[in-house]
Order: sequence, then C-alpha cells, then structure tokens
Amino acid sequence: MPPDAHLPQLREALLAWFAAHQRPLPWRINYTPYEVWISEVMLQQTQMERGVSYFTRWMARFPDVAALAAASEEEVLRLWEGLGYYSRARHVLAAARLIMEKHKGVFPSGLEDIRALPGVGPYTAGAVASIAFGEKLPCVDANVERVVARVFDLDGPVKQEPAASAVRAWALRLVPEGRAREHNQAMMELGALVCGKKPRCALCPLAAFCVSLHLGIVDQRPVPGKRAAITPIEVVTGVLRHTGRVFVQKRLASGVWGNLWEFPGGRVEPGESPEQAVAREFGEETGFDVAVDRSYGIIRHGYTTYRITLHCFALSLAATTAAATAAEPPAPPILTAASAWRWVTPVELENLAMPAAHRKLADQIFGPGGQSRLPGA
Ligand code: SF4
Repeated sequence: MPPDAHLPQLREALLAWFAAHQRPLPWRINYTPYEVWISEVMLQQTQMERGVSYFTRWMARFPDVAALAAASEEEVLRLWEGLGYYSRARHVLAAARLIMEKHKGVFPSGLEDIRALPGVGPYTAGAVASIAFGEKLPCVDANVERVVARVFDLDGPVKQEPAASAVRAWALRLVPEGRAREHNQAMMELGALVCGKKPRCALCPLAAFCVSLHLGIVDQRPVPGKRAAITPIEVVTGVLRHTGRVFVQKRLASGVWGNLWEFPGGRVEPGESPEQAVAREFGEETGFDVAVDRSYGIIRHGYTTYRITLHCFALSLAATTAAATAAEPPAPPILTAASAWRWVTPVELENLAMPAAHRKLADQIFGPGGQSRLPGA
C-alpha cells in the first residue's frame, strides 16, 4: 500500500504522540519568535540538556531582542562559550541589532525577512516561521531526515541527491494545515526520542505506517553517506606568566574562533618537538623570547573532520631578556596573529570568552572562576 494513502492518519498519530510525550522545554511555554530563534540556533550540534542550560542562562541575561542588541560582543561570546561555532553568536548579535534598527525591535514574521537576518539559513528560517508563526513549512534536521528515510523507505544517502530532495518533499507534504508548530516539533522529537540511531519501533506512533519496518530493513535506513576522513592535528599552546598575570591575545575577527581570547600557540611543524613548537610560535606571534618551564599535559578535542591534540605548557620570559626582570609585565614587541593583547589575573581571565580547549586549560590551572592562586607567581 503506498504510504501517502495514510498521511492523514499518520499526522494524527504523530500529533497525539507529541501531545502526550513532548519534553517540557523552556521555549515551548510562550513560543515567542525570539526564544524559538535562539533555541534553534543553540541546539544545532548541541545536546538537548546542554542546550537547555545555555538557553536558560541566556534568557536570564538577554530576555528580549532589545537586551541582546544592547550587549557587547565580548559578553555575548562569553555567554556562548562552550557551544562552539562562534560565528553563530556574532550573527545572533548582528541580527538582534538589525531587528532593532530595521524592524523597530519587532521580530519579523515573513519568511523572506527572517531569512534576511544575519546567519539565518533555510533551516532556521523555516523553524522560526513554522514554530513561532505557524507557517506551513517543514523543518528538516538530522532527526527528521532519519524518520522520513525510514517511514518512506528512501534508498539513497539523505544528505545527497536525489534522496535529499525526496526528504524535503515528503517533509513538506506531511505538514498539516494549521498545525505546523506541533507537527514540526513532533517530527524532530520523534527522531530524538524514539526513531534514533537505535530505533525503538515497539514504542513508535508511526509503526503502522513505516515502510522500512514492514520490509524489515530499518537497520538499513537511512542509507549511510560517505564518512569524511578525520585528520589528526598536533598543536601547542603556552601560558606565559609574569608578576602574577598571564598573557592572552584576542584572535583576529575572521575564522572559527574570531575575536575570542586565547593563550598563543599554533601547529607543530614536521621534525619539531612540542616544546620547540610552543617557543617558536610564541616568538612568531608576540616577539617574546620564552622559556618552557613544564608541561600542563595534553587536551584532546574532536571536530567533524579533524582531531586536535593540544600540548599545553607553562612558560616564563627567557632569563636572558631584560623583560624577564621587569617589575611590570612588558608589552609584546609584535602581534602577528591577534588584534589585541592583555596581561590578566586568573579572575579577570574568567570574564574573557575563550575557545573550549583554552578554557579547559585555564580551569585546570587556576580552577573554575580563577579563584586559586597563580602557581609560581
Ligand atoms: S517504526 Fe521504527 S523505524 Fe519506523 S519511524 Fe518508528 S521508530 Fe522509526
């Protein structure tokens, strides 16, 4: 029997399941466009529990578009710290400012206007337009791709054509008139709670309609795409200390960690030891001649296509330089990989937005909040 013959029953079953089983999430109380937008941006590549805690903290500080638009980029990045993908945080701030200027502080309701906000792609625009404003549009995230591929037995990788178009077409066709908000969330919720990597078909409201379940090929759907090769990368960083302070620099605006603060460092070159690399990198980026005092260990971090091994070191200004005995921390002779620098106390470090690995290192050395004394200072 073709699956589209059962679409009305399928929709009803899904909506009934969602009404009974949806998780009580903070943005599901008032469904304001601002809250829906922030939750959708935060939840990309983030687990739900983590997303909820970031969302709650964010809303306590920036309860509406006006509060966000008035914030500094520094504070926005600090609150975003740990979610990664920092261009999202910068875009969210730019979008809030645009809403204040162009839309008089009112979140735009038209799809085109939503899509025109900085950093808003087709997925986020569709999510806000349908969940906040009830527009009859689908939301296709990885959960929905999986559910659609299984229910309608799509036999190609869902990220590639022609299956990608088939997913979007089915997802649109499924949206019931006047129920886009509940339906789209129900699809995503089903993918998250029931039709996950290990599907729990016995609990599924769509079991009666699911073609791959009936064919006994659920474990073959969705068809896996090509896995990206993982590239290992060796990098180093150094915590330079002087008279009770540590040296940090602000990364250039472009790039993944643009405008975040960091301990200087970089890649280990072929034939180089991590100790040699950190001294060279520090010299190239700041002009400081440094001595490597000891290792703080290794921090490993995985990304979609590469795996980082970060070697961390305690540094001091080389004893042969005049700066080593200076009463005040000296200015760096040069700054080649950053837009600003500071010598900060561990407590001041707490207020700067840093990439996750550097925050982890700072917490490891100084304790969360930077309360502990600077070792060796
Ligand atoms: S029956 Fe199983 S495979 Fe089909 S949608 Fe439900 S959980 Fe997914």
